[in-house]
Amino acid sequence: SSIVIAIDGTSASGKSTNAKMVAKALGYIYVDTGAMYRTFGWHCLKNKVNLDDEKAIASACKKWKTSLERVDNHVHLLVDGYYPAREIRTAEVSSATSLIAAVPKVREWMKKKQRECIQFGNLVMEGRDIGTNVFPETDFKFYLDACLNERSKRRLAEGVQENLAARDQRDSQRAAAPLMVALGAKVINNSGMTAEETSKLIIEEIQR
Ligand code: C5P
Repeated sequence: SSIVIAIDGTSASGKSTNAKMVAKALGYIYVDTGAMYRTFGWHCLKNKVNLDDEKAIASACKKWKTSLERVDNHVHLLVDGYYPAREIRTAEVSSATSLIAAVPKVREWMKKKQRECIQFGNLVMEGRDIGTNVFPETDFKFYLDACLNERSKRRLAEGVQENLAARDQRDSQRAAAPLMVALGAKVINNSGMTAEETSKLIIEEIQR
């Protein structure tokens, strides 16, 4: 059966960069669950779903038309056959996403889709609740963090200015599958570390 490496952590803590590097080094498939939540956040904004109304959000989630597609060693969630790669990276979508991500029905739906990714093979899956909630049975759990100052700098370097602290707080304080360190997870604070150093640490831990 397939192996899953779970990489969770705070916003802009280097999850994507490291998960991609680890997937490449091991020949695994990379799944960005943040992109899945963002795609739904974007879809809700586009369809003018009231983000203060949990029921409206849950019902939009039940109705949208999606599919999972493997592209090289990545898995994409398509909506109406389209993967909104660029559209989901705005600060507006980030903030809408942390709202829709707090809705239990949305999380249930996402968990089911994320577990379906196993069909594609061994996975490196990054997010907020992969080790705690989506694949709690995996032996390979990591939690990345870095100081706020460094994380803000990383986002700015990508051209995105947003309130990371507010998003982390919302992600950590929601009732449904909040951001937290999974039992047995290896915590890596990568402030001052390069992505090469961090991913090397992760790979060494997996191969131990
Ligand atoms: O990882 P990324 O910053 O792209 O995630 C965007 C938002 O999606 C997070 O702030 C969080 O609210 C939500 N998310 C989540 N659970 C995941 C992945 C992302 O709640 N597994």
